[in-house]
Amino acid sequence: MRLLFIILLFLTGTAFCQNKDSYDAARQRMVEQQIVARGISDYATLKAMRKVPRHLFVPPSVAGQAYNDWPLPIGYNQTISQPFIVAYMTELSRPAKNKRALEIGTGSGYQAAVLAEIVDTVYTIEIVPELARESAARLKVLGYENIIVRYGDGYKGWPEHAPFEIIIVTAAADHIPQPLKEQLTEGGRLVMPVGNPATVQELIVLTKRKGKITEQRLEPVRFVPLKRLKEK
Ligand code: SAH
Repeated sequence: MRLLFIILLFLTGTAFCQNKDSYDAARQRMVEQQIVARGISDYATLKAMRKVPRHLFVPPSVAGQAYNDWPLPIGYNQTISQPFIVAYMTELSRPAKNKRALEIGTGSGYQAAVLAEIVDTVYTIEIVPELARESAARLKVLGYENIIVRYGDGYKGWPEHAPFEIIIVTAAADHIPQPLKEQLTEGGRLVMPVGNPATVQELIVLTKRKGKITEQRLEPVRFVPLKRLKEK
């Protein structure tokens, strides 16, 4: 009986390792072929993308596709962005060890985890209560103690912790919410898809220098819409 147990343990152990090894290999390939090959060069961003186990952020039914070049469903009509887009937005935000970041649209928690590998603290807000709960639990299990998840409408930002050097919005709207502009530090950077939420948007980088805001328009992208909670 005991021998059988040991054999079983050994077999499941090796199966798990093989699985983990193949996910690790797929992740390194993803970074080379989808991210480095398309011009992402920020060292910290690449290091984070090589480390964060994306397959643990998607439903088990699609874990085998976690390192493929496309977005995936995460339930509640929401999606986790394509790996390249996560890397691109991370690089555009100019992440660094001493910075604090605000993310609007926690979703699976993957973008938050990538940022948290680099920056000091990530504050992240999610409007779907189940997703907020699930991603908070997932990030805790994975040991991300520098990510704070909150349920709510991110349109208004997080005034109690503002200002932020980095604001990343991972849902689309036809304008950049004014409260978010106000919660950016001097020298801070905000990255967000702006345009028609139902079709295509442009990735926008907003920078604040000497109180003056400048806007840079980049690639066309497709994100799920930024929703609003009704005012009571
Ligand atoms: N960054 C996520 C993917 C984002 S999908 C990841 O890495 O997995 C966009 C997310 O934004 C969805 O989970 C959606 O529910 C959320 N969202 C939409 N409007 C929001 C709002 N006003 N405030 C906070 N979250 C919002």
